[in-house]
Amino acid sequence: MNEIRIFCPATIANVSCGFDVLGLCLENFGDEMIIARTETKGIRIKEITGANLPMDAKHNVAGVAALAFIEKLNPDFGFEISIHKKIKAGSGIGSSAASAAGAVFGINALCGYPISNKELVYYAMQGEALASGTPHSDNVAPVLLGGFALVRSYTPLDIISIPSPSDLYVTVIHPQIELKTKDARSVLKENIPLKKAIIQCGNLGGLISGLYTSDYGLIGRSLHDELIEPIRSVLIPNFNQLKQAAADSGALGSGIAGSGPSVFALSQGVVTAQKTAQAMAEALQDTNIPFEIHISAINPQGIKILS
Ligand code: ADP
Repeated sequence: MNEIRIFCPATIANVSCGFDVLGLCLENFGDEMIIARTETKGIRIKEITGANLPMDAKHNVAGVAALAFIEKLNPDFGFEISIHKKIKAGSGIGSSAASAAGAVFGINALCGYPISNKELVYYAMQGEALASGTPHSDNVAPVLLGGFALVRSYTPLDIISIPSPSDLYVTVIHPQIELKTKDARSVLKENIPLKKAIIQCGNLGGLISGLYTSDYGLIGRSLHDELIEPIRSVLIPNFNQLKQAAADSGALGSGIAGSGPSVFALSQGVVTAQKTAQAMAEALQDTNIPFEIHISAINPQGIKILS
């Protein structure tokens, strides 16, 4: 195999009480990438469509992740990467993660799968560091593994795939203002009160348990973020109205997608997810900010090979 074409899904990191440790993978929205083997060693970004992003491999997250991976593999050939973007950079639904994970997945496939998708997370993370300043993995892990992925530990890296109920749907609304992860990080506090940490631990445990046991009620009760949402939500237009709209439509809960400005809601069943989408769209209307809405099941597989 000399070339591979793949679908690289959008993801939501920082799932509510799972700040920096819990991400999920969307089914029906993402980028396409083509990775091809070349005789010349190294990494070259051949083409980018749909976005204005750096063509220099060292300044593109796909290139940085790919370079980190080939440094380990040391193949006696190189790779060309084409990226066809649908996920807007800075949207909060894992634009950079799709590219970073797609690059290392493609290279791994073209080399005969020397390492597992779980092991690829480390190299994809090196690309993410370029975009956000820190090598976080709660987007790249669900891109590579599908479903919900929990980062139990960064040192050593320990990623756990969490099962989820089959009727769980995501609604995500993207108000089209750009909010850079670096900027959204700069408003956060370094220290947190013990009381809040205890509430957050209880909710995260409840959420994971609800996902394992398909207990929608428990998932809903647990979808609260004590720590980050109260601080970051001021950066998102009509955040409180969006949350209220989701609750009024019967969604299980909602929160900031990644570092924003997208806002997500989880629902039991596609009908509630659609109702939630309608209500969230209405909640944003008075801002005159253009937006996109996606409704998706959870993608259990992650990256898909198209050809
Ligand atoms: P997101 O969470 O949507 O990925 P980030 O703010 O974390 O948003 O990352 C977007 C930043 O990464 C932008 O500054 C963008 O220019 C940069 N970037 C570099 N390469 C890529 C790429 N291949 N895809 C997306 N963003 C990239």
